[in-house]
Amino acid sequence: MTSTDPVPLVIVEGFLSSAGALIWGNFEHHSNYACQTNGERDRRSIFASVGPVSSLHDRACELFFSLVGGIVDYGAKHSHENGHARYGRTYTEGLYPEWSSECPLHFLGHSMGGPTVIKLQWLITNGFFGKQYHPDMILSINTVSAPFRGTQLVYTLGEDTRDAPSVRWFSVGNFLAKGIHVASYLSPVLPHLFDLHVEARGLSFYDSSFASFLKQLWRSDWAESRDATPFDTTFIAVDEREATQEGVVYANTFYRSYCATLNHTYPHSATTRTLTWLQRMLGWPLHATSLAILSFRFSTLRPVPAFLESTFSTKLESTHDGDARLEDGLIDVDDGGAYLLNALRANDGVVPLFSQWHPYDCKNTRCVHFSHAESILDGVTDSEKSRYDESPEAGIWHVHHLENAHHFSIVPVWLGTQSQKAFWMDLGHWLRSIEDGRRRLKDRSSTATPAPTVTLADFGS
Ligand SMILES: [Zn+2]
Ligand SMILES: [Zn+2]
Repeated sequence: MTSTDPVPLVIVEGFLSSAGALIWGNFEHHSNYACQTNGERDRRSIFASVGPVSSLHDRACELFFSLVGGIVDYGAKHSHENGHARYGRTYTEGLYPEWSSECPLHFLGHSMGGPTVIKLQWLITNGFFGKQYHPDMILSINTVSAPFRGTQLVYTLGEDTRDAPSVRWFSVGNFLAKGIHVASYLSPVLPHLFDLHVEARGLSFYDSSFASFLKQLWRSDWAESRDATPFDTTFIAVDEREATQEGVVYANTFYRSYCATLNHTYPHSATTRTLTWLQRMLGWPLHATSLAILSFRFSTLRPVPAFLESTFSTKLESTHDGDARLEDGLIDVDDGGAYLLNALRANDGVVPLFSQWHPYDCKNTRCVHFSHAESILDGVTDSEKSRYDESPEAGIWHVHHLENAHHFSIVPVWLGTQSQKAFWMDLGHWLRSIEDGRRRLKDRSSTATPAPTVTLADFGS
């Protein structure tokens, strides 16, 4: 790759997703518009395969080694604590072996793909993969409908509100876990389309006895552990991650989140866009789950998640109307009125809006939230192009709200909608403007500058 070639974009899929380019479709035709109109080469897209039901830690390790090559190493301590083998599959050739601070990568994560990249940057920063790696290897993190701060839907589907990671019997999550174990057991003869990355867990019929398989069907050591996707989307897990500073912004990485809400969950919508009949058909199951998120009773959660205490105090400061109240020393936000409806309940059918913004409360990170008048789904018109005249700022979350959109409106399934075309065209402009700024900076300071150190960017202020 030459210094003027566009930086590749790595795409990381979410829970239960691993189909890759097969369903993501012809997005490059639109995402490459910015490069093509400036006489540059097309940007390379890289689909990284990670375990569709694996924990954030395991997914981040799989992502890292699929890019640099080698044997997937989950770490001696982690694998010992979570009861699986330390090593996974071998990548004889990495997808991007030259990956470094000088040859960085852009990342786009859909749903759990977003927190996966956040985990990856945190592991890199903490030297998990070795001291030679640096968080600047990640030039930008772009997310769509990412559950950075968890989702109440995981409890509706079966996670115990007071005893996570236990899963309730006869819940959707309980049956889903059984299905995953059947797929894992049969994985050697199943098509590679649904690649579970279960080598380190020894769950296939090559590695596991039939009796052991039945035992896992009865009670899953994996699904009901802290080392699986469901637990990672609980509010307890989020508090644990944020306590270790996982999700702080780094000075030289660019951050952008795209946050979707369905109109009936977001009361102040002013959108004029309408959904096609095909979008409505695909979206109807999400209508049901969005209602479950809307009606979730936060007061059932123990321990009380940190964001509830924070939201509660913000509400008291902002309204003084006493809608939220303390009961037995614990916070009851279920009667919290319109403010809490917006903050915690507006959702895309899977993830509440506040969780899609970024890790941490707004007051504990750096962020700018764009108004609805600046919707990127309206397309990049000439007047809006001025948005990209100036180099974007690194080390701060750029939060964009996608109204009248559900969890799968933009990605992963390509339907060729106007919204999808506008999204990819805008993303192409954004990535190119990041590189443009980076090149200008390099030209200005061709004298060597020291590598920037990690800045916690007002964390805790
Ligand atoms: Zn693990
Ligand atoms: Zn914010």
